Amino acid sequence: MTPERSSLVAELVDSFPELREHFRTALLLEPQPGEPGPHDSSVGGPLLWPADEEWPVCSEEHRVDHREDLSAEDRSALERVRQRRAERRRSGNNVLSEEDAAVYDRISARGGVIDMASWQVHSLRPEAPAAGVAMIPVLQLFARDVPGVEWPEGTDLLQVLWCPNDHDTPPGQGPYYFGPTVALRRRSAGDVRDALAAPPAPRRTDDRYYLPRPCTVAPVETPDLPDRDELPPDLRERVDQWRGGTGRTEYRDLGCVQGWKLGGWPTWCVTDLVKIDCVCSARMRLFLTIDSGGGPGLVVGRGGRLQVFQCPEDIGHPLRLNTQ
Ligand SMILES: [Zn+2]
Ligand SMILES: [Zn+2]
Repeated sequence: MTPERSSLVAELVDSFPELREHFRTALLLEPQPGEPGPHDSSVGGPLLWPADEEWPVCSEEHRVDHREDLSAEDRSALERVRQRRAERRRSGNNVLSEEDAAVYDRISARGGVIDMASWQVHSLRPEAPAAGVAMIPVLQLFARDVPGVEWPEGTDLLQVLWCPNDHDTPPGQGPYYFGPTVALRRRSAGDVRDALAAPPAPRRTDDRYYLPRPCTVAPVETPDLPDRDELPPDLRERVDQWRGGTGRTEYRDLGCVQGWKLGGWPTWCVTDLVKIDCVCSARMRLFLTIDSGGGPGLVVGRGGRLQVFQCPEDIGHPLRLNTQ
């Protein structure tokens, strides 16, 4: 945490001591491009995996890119629309005519988006994989590298993998989830005597969104505060009035610390608060945030983040996913 943020958080909590009970400690992972090995904590690096253990695969339906060339006839109709649009704009009118709107509607009626650079209609279509698709490493953490994190007894190694494809509301996820599916393994590093030499390669290596660039991590503990949506209404109203520093910092600038993090508070900056409950009906807790950009260079949730939730009653219960 920067000294500046630290002093602003202190200033905020001095003004609202009730916020202390909402404090959580998040562990910022700070991934930086590097060459991690299987014995290192990493984002997108090789996992220390037992040679005799099955590698996780995904068999869910994927949404895959589908591109279809436009016919010569559609293409010239679109070129005429584009010409009329340019003429109209020169006379200060930027309202699409009904006739031209009908051309777009007819051509995109197959559920796609018209790409006038490649002259194709682009859409996402469901595709059931014929065989399971190998998941890929997203995160590996050794207990020795992450201070302050609780480890289930007998484990000191956490591994997170995901299926680098889009899934539309996969089983176990709430409505509106669209993105990768996630698998988590915990083990004892000392138990991996015979490590897997070559993990399965991803099916596609050209994906720009879901294949992380290998990074080392440099975890730092930082206090985290909830999204204002999670505060009791009276406290929320009061913190909304707060301005800190030189008067330019608001509560929302300090809540939900951004970046790859273990623990801490989830953000609801896109959808407003979503209550994420487990199959056992316990309110789930943020376990991991996978962020877009930075060293790993991922794009999740339209450039936002993927939040992985875990059951506080039993970490063996299925994970829930949310993008913001
Ligand atoms: Zn999948
Ligand atoms: Zn549960």
